Amino acid sequence: SSVDTDAPSSPGKGVENLVIIGSGPAGYTAAIYAARANLKPVVFEGYQVGGVPGGQLMTTTEVENFPGFPDGITGPDLMDRMRRQAERWGAELFQEDVEYIDVKNSPFTVKSSERKVQCHSIVYATGATAKRLRLPREDEFWSRGISACAICDGASPLFKGQVLAVVGGGDTATEEAIYLTKYARHVHLLVRRDQLRASKAMQDRIVDLLLYSTYFPFDYMISPVDYRECFRVFNNPNITVHFNTETVDVVSNTKGQMSGILLRKLDTGEESVLEAKGLFYGIGHSPNSQLLEGQVELDSAGYVVVEEGSAKTSIEGVFAAGDVQDHEWRQAVTAAGSGCVAALSVERYLVRSN
Ligand code: FAD
Repeated sequence: SSVDTDAPSSPGKGVENLVIIGSGPAGYTAAIYAARANLKPVVFEGYQVGGVPGGQLMTTTEVENFPGFPDGITGPDLMDRMRRQAERWGAELFQEDVEYIDVKNSPFTVKSSERKVQCHSIVYATGATAKRLRLPREDEFWSRGISACAICDGASPLFKGQVLAVVGGGDTATEEAIYLTKYARHVHLLVRRDQLRASKAMQDRIVDLLLYSTYFPFDYMISPVDYRECFRVFNNPNITVHFNTETVDVVSNTKGQMSGILLRKLDTGEESVLEAKGLFYGIGHSPNSQLLEGQVELDSAGYVVVEEGSAKTSIEGVFAAGDVQDHEWRQAVTAAGSGCVAALSVERYLVRSN
């Protein structure tokens, strides 16, 4: 490998063409394109999502909307295929988190705990991470009752057969609640607002669950309000939705185990404890842009700002792809597409600057 492990690489010597940071669909797609263009990209895969490379899709089961897989494909299988494709064309992969980046000086410097690499260009594709509620006892019960990934943890002995809750009102929360019904005795969905933000497709999936137990008129139109009615009328045996509900904290028993969740009704201010052995967060994501703070332009929510329709950031030679620069679409295929754009942009940039 041309990657230096200890000493800093000297300018003009041992400087890599491209370092790609991240191993989601954006990072691997950039790696495939860059490797095929003979740029010999160095990829820091990271292991921030569940301790493995591959990004967010490692935490899901079936991916049904990635083109080319008419019967669906599991997230881990899809990511394994992308990884192998990048490797096959000669991308050099390191399962390490990047800890430091300097893009103020040229060549740029990228450092992990194991090595320091200098490079002419960077594709930053670190994705996004599930948000936390910052409950008073969150740290105490993190991984001991509180989780941000139903798909990773739902089947664990801690949660199997128990009453569980999911907080959030969008697609993530709704999907997590549905998923947890496979293992849990009952699932409560805790929603701050008075309706769900989940997409129509996702709402339909909850309604599908109702069909197992009861008659349901197929041509029934589901608006958020009707949807709430569904639960009241059909009394879904698996999921109870609590609207106007704030999640205040978790509650423990005398053995120090999580035993419930303190809730507050936003309309009445009334507080109550809901019995539950697990609380899953489904409240959205924050972009993993910390390493670029103060160096590259970020928007108010922390997303990397890229030139419209391109992967260019405010620093020449630094490109961003995937969820870290996309607060709107956040799909595997859009992440992959932007990874492709980033790699092709790097190719052009390197030709121009040579
Ligand atoms: P990510 O997949 O988030 O990957 C980012 C990578 O960067 C990770 O590998 C991480 O370890 C790495 N990283 C972060 N920081 C560092 C660092 N400092 N150093 C090195 N590496 C770092 N989309 C769909 O299109 N279809 C679906 O069915 C679908 N289902 C989903 C289900 C779930 C449960 C979730 C959470 C998401 C789902 N998505 C789906 C969305 C999709 O997963 C994301 O849009 C996509 O993964 C974004 O890709 P990305 O490459 O930008 O980042």
